[in-house]
Amino acid sequence: MLHANNVKEALSSGFFGSYGGQYIPDALKNRLDSLTEAFVSAMADESFHSEYVRILEEYVGRPTALTECFNISRELGGARLFLKREDLAHGGAHKINNCVGQILLAKRMGAKRIIAETGAGMHGTASAMAAAMFGMECTIYMGELDIARQEPNVERMRALGTNVVSVTAGQRTLKEAVDAALTAYVEQPDTFYLLGSAVGPHPYPSMVREFQSIIGKEAKAQLLKREGKLPDYAIACVGGGSNAIGLFSGFLDDESVKLIGVEPSGKSLKLGDHAASLTLGKPGVLHGFMSYVLTDDNGEAALVHSISAGLDYPSVGPEHAFLKDSGRVQYELASDTEALEAFRALCHKEGIIPALESSHALAHAMKILPGLDKDKIVLVNLSGRGDKDFHSIPAEYKTPIRIDRD
Ligand SMILES: *Cc1c(COP(=O)(O)O)cnc(C)c1O
Repeated sequence: MLHANNVKEALSSGFFGSYGGQYIPDALKNRLDSLTEAFVSAMADESFHSEYVRILEEYVGRPTALTECFNISRELGGARLFLKREDLAHGGAHKINNCVGQILLAKRMGAKRIIAETGAGMHGTASAMAAAMFGMECTIYMGELDIARQEPNVERMRALGTNVVSVTAGQRTLKEAVDAALTAYVEQPDTFYLLGSAVGPHPYPSMVREFQSIIGKEAKAQLLKREGKLPDYAIACVGGGSNAIGLFSGFLDDESVKLIGVEPSGKSLKLGDHAASLTLGKPGVLHGFMSYVLTDDNGEAALVHSISAGLDYPSVGPEHAFLKDSGRVQYELASDTEALEAFRALCHKEGIIPALESSHALAHAMKILPGLDKDKIVLVNLSGRGDKDFHSIPAEYKTPIRIDRD
């Protein structure tokens, strides 16, 4: 399968197979056409690329480390586990890679202000950091309920000089924040909409993929240098799908590498208890693009749940929908409890506190490790660090281990 052709195709048509596109009002279409044009021209400009790479090195702290987890591998008795350490990127997650890329593009287009949506506050925080560094004014739209639930990130954004706007419509969470940010974007011509995942209307899924592809490129080069071979498995959690597509893009054309995306099955497989859009949803349109969507009996976007706020979205990036149908990527599930157990294992065994989102990918890796030969390599994208999650982790997962000495 020649994946590179599909990526080129998506840039010109806006579609990955039948997924993606622009299901949007005309006023927005004009704005996104100029955005597409600017992105294509930036991609062909060597000076844009070298500035992006310079900032990734000097500000974001790239390349991030590749870490072998000797203790977990030994204990589970199977394959070797490696982590791509996006938790070590500036801000504590992969999100900054995309924010730096899009703000460079915003500057190139002459935009004066950045607007963005945020749910848990991680994308809002990364946007606020990058905007401050580039001297751009920044407004973040956030649901009133999320503002109450995510106080530390709201404080971080405000400290970074960003204006956080409380959205009081509907459920007062991410969906309404996206609607409010899109409205502001259409009304204000000097703004740039910084979208946080590989979702939304064209060209966002292609753009976010491009700016996150550094994850897969680095991981591949690091493994080849250290081990002289490719991983047997590459695994990432899937919310909107940006950290996963960033990792997978490095290996899509290497057919020997099995790619696995892990969705949150939350509390149960009942609608409302999970956010497994690819596994349990159906093709449909939400927020301006065609992909798998979780809908209720009225055909509206369903309420979703995951213990990790960053995976809590009723749809998924269109390229993942395409990769699922084509069979190139396999999508699996991990529950809240499995993620918490993986969280605890990484804390206790390796001295790394993972984000609950990333713990879903880790949970699946820990399921398959024991059944694989010792020379196999399983690569997990550790998308972020877990300090932000302590308030949602039950006490029994934050206690010392009892040490049995026999
Ligand atoms: C936001 C976030 C995610 C989920 O977003 P994707 O676009 O699916 O990558 C995963 N991990 C962390 C740490 C996040 O902050």
